[in-house]
Amino acid sequence: MFRCALCAEVVPPRTAAHRLVLEVRPHLYPQRPHAQTVPNPPDRRIPRRKRRHVGTDVGGLGQAIVREVQVCPACAARRP
Ligand SMILES: [Zn+2]
Repeated sequence: MFRCALCAEVVPPRTAAHRLVLEVRPHLYPQRPHAQTVPNPPDRRIPRRKRRHVGTDVGGLGQAIVREVQVCPACAARRP
């Protein structure tokens, strides 16, 4: 049970809330060399823990949410 941010109606209990992103900003994510590592080379004869691991998360430019509101299913369907 919550109040929709767009139509200001109180929705019935157990109604799914939808989150609508209203504003985003560009964000530079840093490289994370120790996150999501994969064995390289992928030689299966060598035990997994003995293989050299390289990080796959190189970071880069993305988007960060600035403003997000909770809306009812009807309002969520109307907005793309
Ligand atoms: Zn609504």
